[in-house]
Amino acid sequence: MTPGPTEIPTAVRERLAQPAPNPDIEPAFFERYRALTANLETVFGTDGVVILGGEGILGLEAAVASILEPGASDRVLCLSNGLYGDGFADFVELYGGTPEIVRSPAEKPFDLAALESILETEEFLAATVVHCETPTGTLNHLEPVLELLEAHDVLSIVDAVSSLGGTAVPAEKIDICLGASQKCFSAPPGLTVASVSDRAWERIESTETPSFYANLEPWKDALAEEWFPYTHLASNVLALEESIELLLEEGLESVFERHEEAAALCRSRAAAYGLSTVAEKPELASPTVTALSVPGEATTIQHRLLEEHNILLATGLGESEDDILRVGHMGHNARDELVARTMDAVGEVLAN
Ligand SMILES: *Cc1c(COP(=O)(O)O)cnc(C)c1O
Repeated sequence: MTPGPTEIPTAVRERLAQPAPNPDIEPAFFERYRALTANLETVFGTDGVVILGGEGILGLEAAVASILEPGASDRVLCLSNGLYGDGFADFVELYGGTPEIVRSPAEKPFDLAALESILETEEFLAATVVHCETPTGTLNHLEPVLELLEAHDVLSIVDAVSSLGGTAVPAEKIDICLGASQKCFSAPPGLTVASVSDRAWERIESTETPSFYANLEPWKDALAEEWFPYTHLASNVLALEESIELLLEEGLESVFERHEEAAALCRSRAAAYGLSTVAEKPELASPTVTALSVPGEATTIQHRLLEEHNILLATGLGESEDDILRVGHMGHNARDELVARTMDAVGEVLAN
């Protein structure tokens, strides 16, 4: 019950075990890849989705690398209320851009007034935003941010790795929207998915970034030309194919509802134990992950849950490692019965 990688359902593991067509040579692979891309476009609600062979972080790095021009010191605004938000700034520096972090505390929404005033006075090529800050279970409201960025002609890059497929993501308003296989899709880690707008492709094609693997550009015409820049991760692609089929069979609306319910149950069970959640306001609480505040006890509770109940939760990240216990109700694991069993076990550990 961690917030990624999530438990992989049997059907997805079975698909992973199937013989995979040769991704470079066999037309059957391209056909399946084309169908998977179309299904992912339904999930994103956009056209122009690419699938990169690599863990979710590859997508974040590739998105930033793809739009920056070396030596140009392009300015990128990094909106942040958490670790992943801050992390974008490191990638901007790595690829020769100039990051400007606009920060607010983890339990607070983005400061729209501060964002507006900096956009009025300064020029930015792009802005990076995290939808769900997985370390604190905070779901950021993207719409007002995206409207401001659009009004100031700033390219938007959104990390939706831990929300895509678990809750609605307004990807049609985002220039580069990133997801990954191992969170709400409940497929194995190993693939990044990205929806890229036409104006983002224009920017990407006009830059001379010295990166190939960490770059979106080589994937732009992969489907049209039936040529992959490198051997695709064929078995991972098949597993993702199955997991997206399961998602669409169930229906996005009902999947999102299942996440909302599981999250609400998790929060109410936590409240009954007197535990507070890091994202205190319900409108900031993510439907995919809940971060419980357990100062100084997270590691002990985590170990006991695993030993005594065979349930795995995650602790906090960074400085708050031992203060936060995170329950993932994400993808296949976003089910009331699984959350109830988890919170029963948390209650037993807390009581003894
Ligand atoms: C999981 C996750 C990623 C991918 O990074 P990991 O190395 O799998 O942790 C990126 N962004 C967010 C918000 C995530 O939750």
